[in-house]
Amino acid sequence: MYQNLDSIIASSNLPILDLRSDTVTKPTTEMRAVMADADVGDDVYGEDPTINALEEKAAQLLGKDAGLFLPSSTMSNLAAMMAHAQRGDEIILGRGYHIFKYEAGGTSVLGSAFPYPLDVAPDGGLEPLDIDAAIKPNDSHFPPSKVLSLENTHAGQAVSLERINACLDVADKHNLLKHLDGARFFNATTKLNIQAAELAERYDTINLCLSKGLGAPVGAVLVGNQQAISAARRWRKMLGGGMRQAGILAAAGIYALDNHIARLAADHKRAATLAKELGALGKFKVTFQDNQTNMVFIEPSDNDIKPLRQHLAQRGINMGGGNYIRLVMHLDIDDDGLTRIVDGFKSYFG
Ligand SMILES: *Cc1c(COP(=O)(O)O)cnc(C)c1O
Repeated sequence: MYQNLDSIIASSNLPILDLRSDTVTKPTTEMRAVMADADVGDDVYGEDPTINALEEKAAQLLGKDAGLFLPSSTMSNLAAMMAHAQRGDEIILGRGYHIFKYEAGGTSVLGSAFPYPLDVAPDGGLEPLDIDAAIKPNDSHFPPSKVLSLENTHAGQAVSLERINACLDVADKHNLLKHLDGARFFNATTKLNIQAAELAERYDTINLCLSKGLGAPVGAVLVGNQQAISAARRWRKMLGGGMRQAGILAAAGIYALDNHIARLAADHKRAATLAKELGALGKFKVTFQDNQTNMVFIEPSDNDIKPLRQHLAQRGINMGGGNYIRLVMHLDIDDDGLTRIVDGFKSYFG
C-alpha cells in the first residue's frame, strides 16, 4: 500500500509535502555547504574541532557545563539513563514518553534500569502527586527510585514551566536526578517564550535532537554537568556511538542552532492555521490544544481515510498512516505548501 501511495505521490510531479514528521526535512543548500567545508578530526580522540564546537555551543546555550554529540536522540537518552541509573535503579517517566514507548525498551534491555511509567496529563506533563506516590521507600522490596525523566515538547505540546517546576520540586524533595528528553526542546522554548537556559536550568541532563524541526540530517546533543556527560561519553563508546570525522555532521548541527531556531515559530503558526482551516470543514475531529506547537491531530472517519490519503497523494501530499493522524509542520513546508495542503482537504470534502 505504501509503495502504491509513494508512486501516486511521485507521479503528481509536485514538490512532496510530507506531513508524517519533522524528521523528514532535508538539509538545505546552505547547510550542505557548511558541512562540505567543516574542519574534522578523530572525535574518539576528542580531536574533531567542529564536534567540540557544537558540544560547547549547545552546552553554553542551555547554561550547562558540557555537551556530547550522539548519532540519535534514542542513543542520547539511553546514554543519559545509563549515566544516571545503575543496575536495578528505577526511572520514573510518562507512559507515552518516547524513552518508555518508542526506544525498544533500551533502558531496561541495555541499561538494566527499571522504568516506572505514569499516565501523561492532558497538557503533556506528569502529575506531581503521581510522581510523589511512585517514589519508593528505602525497602528491599523495591527498586531504588533514582531518576525522573520528563519530555518537552510531548506530542507537540509545550508543557508549562509551572507544571514542570511542580514535578521537579517532587524530584528534588526525594533527591532524584532529573532528565529532560527535549528532542523538540526549542519548539518548547519558542512556544513558552522563554530562554533556553531557563527551561534547562533545573535538569541534570537534557537531550536535544538536531534532526527534527532544526533540520539537520543526523544527530543529537546531550548536555549537562561534567560528571554526567563524562559518564555518558563512556556509554556512548560502548553503544557504538563513538564516531570519527563526524564534524561534517556536527557542522550541520551548528548551522541549525544558528539559523533554524528562530524559524520554528513559523511552523507553529502554520500548524495553527492548518488546525483552524481543517476544523472549519467540520468533517472530522481536529485536535490542536492551546499549548500545541507544530502538530495537528485529525481523526477522519474510517470510510474517508483511504480515499482521502489517495486524494492528497495525487496532490503530492503524504498524510501518513493510522487512524489518529499526526500532521507535522516543518522546514520543508512553506506557506505555498500549506495552501496546497488545505486545498487538498477542501477539494476532497467540497
Ligand atoms: C524522535 C524522538 C526521539 C528519538 O529521536 P531519534 O533521533 O529518532 O532517535 C526521542 N525523544 C523524543 C521526544 C522524540 O520525539
